[in-house]
Amino acid sequence: MFAKASSAMAYLPCTRVRREPSLWPRMRQQCSRKCVLFGCGTFLSRQLKTLRGGNRSLGMAQFLCSMVNMASTLQIELVPCLKDNYAYLLHDVGTGTVGVVDPSEAVPIIDALNRTNRNLTYILNTHHHHDHTGGNTELKARYGAKVIGSGTDMDRIPGIDVALDDGDTWMFAGHEVLVMETPGHTRGHISYYFPGSGTIFTGDTLFSLSCGKLFEGTPEQMLSSLRKIMSLADDTIIYCGHEYTLSNSKFALSIEPKNEALQSYATNVAHLRSKGLPTVPTTVKTEKLCNPFLRTSSLEIRQALNISPTANDVEALAAIRKAKDDW
Ligand SMILES: [Zn+2]
Repeated sequence: MFAKASSAMAYLPCTRVRREPSLWPRMRQQCSRKCVLFGCGTFLSRQLKTLRGGNRSLGMAQFLCSMVNMASTLQIELVPCLKDNYAYLLHDVGTGTVGVVDPSEAVPIIDALNRTNRNLTYILNTHHHHDHTGGNTELKARYGAKVIGSGTDMDRIPGIDVALDDGDTWMFAGHEVLVMETPGHTRGHISYYFPGSGTIFTGDTLFSLSCGKLFEGTPEQMLSSLRKIMSLADDTIIYCGHEYTLSNSKFALSIEPKNEALQSYATNVAHLRSKGLPTVPTTVKTEKLCNPFLRTSSLEIRQALNISPTANDVEALAAIRKAKDDW
């Protein structure tokens, strides 16, 4: 899979794909970052042999994104797990190092590694929930992989070896990884930002068109976490923990129906899902334009939910979250 994709990537121009609402479903390619070359957005449609059982609704396609640095290549393979989770395999082509972000379960990851005869060196968890860490123990035992996670949640992440906190830098096979604490969904939630490739893994903090439920945190914490992510460059690529986008788009449209960027994005999301294709990754720019949780100042949203024009952003986010929970 990776080898096949790599050869395909070699023919892509030295550009980074940026998805913009006005251009969907057309993909647009632009050079954006010094010394970083991207070929991202190639869909590799095929039946996923990793899928077992009737509830694996995501199994029609696999997505692979290759980000090429002058010195090394980082490939990202989306691996559907459980009903609507995504795990992500990270593969550094230069060293052969492989990591996985949020393995909900072991079998799909093992199958993906077997297909390319690869070992697993690292497991990166964004938070402690079982649908993000359920594969930790089996994968660690099988491959001897090191488990990376939040220092705040050391006692809740199975097999954790390396505890990281906000602002820490960790290296994945020469790729710098910045740790951002993004609490709200859980107390110890972290996001992994790869500045060299402009990519972030946001777990259950930020989804396309939504944010995680506030199980252990407050609206203040979630707003702060979302603002951290939104402070990254507009063309930052976002990989989140679940394929919820179609449902999220219906809620978003219900409270901001005149948002043209959202209308266009929702149309493309429905098209992708009708073909069984993932809607992930998204971008910071797309989410700023379309995600209601990042649009707390929208008068249309405030009117739809009876949020006072004088309410602050925390109060507005809390009201949007409650409306979504009740929706
Ligand atoms: Zn979660």
